[in-house]
Amino acid sequence: MTAISTQTFSANGITYHPAAKPVVVICIDGSADEYLDVTAANGRLSHLQQMSKNGYRGMVRGALPSFTNVNNSSIVTGVSPAVHGISGNFFYDAAKDQEVMMNSSEYLRADTILAAAANAGRKVAVVTAKEKLRDILSYKLKGIAFSAEKANLARKDTHGIDEVEKIVGHPTPAIYSADASLFVLRAGVALIEKGLADFLYLSLTDYMQHTYAPDAEPSLAFYEAMDAEIGKLLKAGAIVGATADHGMNAKIKADGQPNVLFVEDMLEEKFGEGFRVICPITDPYVKHHGALGSYVVVHVDKKHNVSEVKNWLAIQPGITEVHDKATATRLLEQPGDRTGDLVVLSARDVVVGRRPQYHDLSALDGTLRSHGGRYEEMVPLIISHPLNKAYQMKASGDPRNFDVFDFTINGTHS
Ligand SMILES: [Zn+2]
Repeated sequence: MTAISTQTFSANGITYHPAAKPVVVICIDGSADEYLDVTAANGRLSHLQQMSKNGYRGMVRGALPSFTNVNNSSIVTGVSPAVHGISGNFFYDAAKDQEVMMNSSEYLRADTILAAAANAGRKVAVVTAKEKLRDILSYKLKGIAFSAEKANLARKDTHGIDEVEKIVGHPTPAIYSADASLFVLRAGVALIEKGLADFLYLSLTDYMQHTYAPDAEPSLAFYEAMDAEIGKLLKAGAIVGATADHGMNAKIKADGQPNVLFVEDMLEEKFGEGFRVICPITDPYVKHHGALGSYVVVHVDKKHNVSEVKNWLAIQPGITEVHDKATATRLLEQPGDRTGDLVVLSARDVVVGRRPQYHDLSALDGTLRSHGGRYEEMVPLIISHPLNKAYQMKASGDPRNFDVFDFTINGTHS
């Protein structure tokens, strides 16, 4: 095995000083802290508990909206959506009167830590459960990048690697499964053990968290299986940092039915026509959430008074925050040209949508569990090695989930 590069590199104003050890950052998609706690309380999370004891465990603030691609983009760039530009899966381009999907690197406005590490001589690998994230995560990357979803299609010239199934020792998993995430971790273990990578970003999927509450047996078994793979990463000598893109909460009423506010209908009923509600959580993975999350963007026709609409929305039961564009860009760290006139966030147990016909809940595999708002913003951060003084201080301030590379690399120097 060739020596691991310790050359420093910079991305978006932060300089990274990596040790001569494999570095692995894991995004446990949808991992609210309760998942770790309940699994640990059942004695089925030994390696992550060991990491918490030997290293660090705390809570960090994610980026808003608390969606997957927003936070994955933040984690690999180390900056907020205001800087990297990815503020959801969709935005409405008012000038072009078009709803634009921004699930590709052409919408990314910042370089990645991964590409910078590769340029500094690290053997970088990105493994994501969902194919949709691969393009953003592998932006300008000279290295390996593939998804579990399409592992069998990875080719050397396009993905930096051939024969993934053979290397990992498992077949390409179904996307709606625990295996989709476990495959990503197994791939990480195999890439390190075979000397193919020494700087990894492993991004899982939240199908299990959308489908099961923390104390459900399939969830406990899933966390236990993830923990076993993380144990193998530690055994291979890696410094491991784990966080989440967002938490996850049940969005249901006492009778178990989805707790939904259809904001476009509500506004039309109160003020008349002239509103467009964008649900930036909308994506092709229909079994997860029916395009319902706790964050929507509203575009208001000029004939309406935006403040009047804002004040009315803000007092509706189930709605917890309404911000105009200026506040959304500052307080919620949004890119001004990709948000709307108003941003609406809902309660822990409430989702906001457009109109009923835009949301098909029949595809859900279980009850409605989702994310996107303030109540899924705080997520765990676990680092395998002890933090130095400077990062202990930083951890007691307002650390972010997108500081995870910084903590894992710069925070673990003695
Ligand atoms: Zn997610």
